[in-house]
Amino acid sequence: MSSPSQSGSRNASRARPTPRPAFPATGSASPPSSVRRRRRPERANQRRLRGHWTVTPPDRTDGAHRGIIVGRWTAGLRGRGALLGAVAILLAACGDAGGSPAGGSVHRTVVLGRSVQGRPISAVELGNPHAARRVLVVGCVHGDEPAGVAVADALAAGPGPAHADLWVVPVLNPDGMAARTRGNAHGVDLNRNFPAGWRRIDAPGSAHYSGAAPLSEPESAAAARLVRRVRPTVAIWFHQHLTVVDSSQGPSDVQRRFARDVGLPLRALTVYPGSATGWENTVVGQSAFVVELPGGRLPAAAVRRYADAVRRITGS
Ligand SMILES: [Zn+2]
Repeated sequence: MSSPSQSGSRNASRARPTPRPAFPATGSASPPSSVRRRRRPERANQRRLRGHWTVTPPDRTDGAHRGIIVGRWTAGLRGRGALLGAVAILLAACGDAGGSPAGGSVHRTVVLGRSVQGRPISAVELGNPHAARRVLVVGCVHGDEPAGVAVADALAAGPGPAHADLWVVPVLNPDGMAARTRGNAHGVDLNRNFPAGWRRIDAPGSAHYSGAAPLSEPESAAAARLVRRVRPTVAIWFHQHLTVVDSSQGPSDVQRRFARDVGLPLRALTVYPGSATGWENTVVGQSAFVVELPGGRLPAAAVRRYADAVRRITGS
């Protein structure tokens, strides 16, 4: 419904690097172009790794110990040695196969950024980091719609898919979830704050306030950095409580199968200006869609059913 953004077009035509560089850094994003030109890309990446992306241990696997090492080493790295160190760290984080594209696996937690009130926004990456299939799951965008967090947590607990790189963001809006509000702590509806088709909607205090500018909020900016970096082939953004799989955009075959697996109807919802999925589909075409869960908490059996349906998308 909206034309692709400039950055989206550029991203769409760029080959995906292997192995991956570190993630991009802050909400204000990349440094000025003059700085970018002076700096070797590898060093720029390392700076971002050291300065802003924190790898923290997941709860359960050996990856936890690797995560601790990554965090500690990157905190102490300086200068030219940093690049070599970063390469070693990235390889170490790839698991038993030592970074082999065929067999490496990860299970790690990455802090994407911080909310308005300073809460960490975390993602868990698990599975094969080199896989062509990259699946993103966002459990909670609107703070008063938290049912998807249980599904995200179940996925983040593993097991990791063998043939896909699975990224799980349980809570994109931790301030809103803590306050049980739709918007973030600025009262911004994050699902109206993304660049594609963005326009000013309403005003502070309104449920659908778009924010002052696209990606004005640290939460939406963190999600945008992740999407630009991972370029998911499939992404599910959970909401509540319309009880439907949205077919208005995204991969129709995946949507159909997912709807069948979880027992939800398939229906085309309105694509709103500034929505996360609308924007993501300008970065990677036909990748993202919304799943509107039922109201209330999901029963344990339903959590399993939704998690299993996501795992089927990953090929597990
Ligand atoms: Zn919602």
